[in-house]
Amino acid sequence: MNSQRAYPKSFSFELFPPKTEAAELALKNTVAQLRQINPSYCSVTFGAGGSTREKTFETVVSIQEGMGIACAPHISCIASTRSHIREMLDAYREQGIKRIVALRGDMPSGMLTTGELRYANELVEFIRQETGNDFHVEVAGYPEVHPQAANAEKDLLNFKRKVEAGADSAITQYFYNAEAYFRFIDDCEKQNINIPIVPGIMPITNYTQLARFSELCGADIPRWIRKRLEVFGDDRVTIRTFGIDVVSKLCRRLLEQGAPGLHFYTLNQSDATLAIWHNLGLHGNNPA
Ligand code: FAD
Repeated sequence: MNSQRAYPKSFSFELFPPKTEAAELALKNTVAQLRQINPSYCSVTFGAGGSTREKTFETVVSIQEGMGIACAPHISCIASTRSHIREMLDAYREQGIKRIVALRGDMPSGMLTTGELRYANELVEFIRQETGNDFHVEVAGYPEVHPQAANAEKDLLNFKRKVEAGADSAITQYFYNAEAYFRFIDDCEKQNINIPIVPGIMPITNYTQLARFSELCGADIPRWIRKRLEVFGDDRVTIRTFGIDVVSKLCRRLLEQGAPGLHFYTLNQSDATLAIWHNLGLHGNNPA
């Protein structure tokens, strides 16, 4: 774990592009709240197969230009072409965007062709070929192993391919088992993977939604957490109190052990993330 201590800490927030005007206003409010804690940057997701391409672009530009927070678009290569990706890179470069989260993405239902780039390592390589070092490139890491990976060892070697292709840093899939992250970092060290690997943090606010996401992305909800959440049912207040306590303790442990920051999956809500942040005693710090 020691290698991660050497990196400056990065605290970032992930958002998704809003679909309606009301959601757009709510997002502005969320970002205004999150701005209080001076994030290193915000990132904006990319809908499956590019379904939110324009909306991701607009959201990124409005946060970076309109609200003065560095913003990183997610780009996925599945079901896309080199020329489409080139256009996006050019457009982001023109807007002064400096950071990109490069992903393979998941195949949208109904689409049959995988696209010209098959895996995220090919996307990273393409971004480097096209744009040199203009962007800081982030990739995804999976402490609990990507659900489609043949096995943990191959998944780690595939993660290494992204780093060798030119990734500058990584954000992990969310997890509630700190040991999985520590083990992943140890395995990366053995493979000479030398980049900051920032834990992805999913606040717990809604059990049904969390169970659905976790099933899809292969994140484990430990039994002791699941069993309690099941009992809370629709009691949002109790879920929130329990979730903030559990996730704050997880974050504290990760930071104490040397994690180079935290990346919060906010789901466009500031409340739980800010409560965790305050519990960590990071309030008032300038993490950037
Ligand atoms: P890859 O690194 O390409 O890995 C995908 C699978 O293929 C793994 O099982 C890996 O072991 C295997 N593999 C990788 N390279 C090779 C290779 N060269 N040969 C053989 N096998 C290989 N999805 C979205 O649609 N939009 C988003 O905005 C988005 N944001 C995300 C942000 C974060 C921080 C994370 C962790 C995930 C995000 N995702 C997003 C989900 C992500 O797209 C999925 O997890 C997807 O299934 C894998 O993407 P990847 O970039 O990790 O793929």
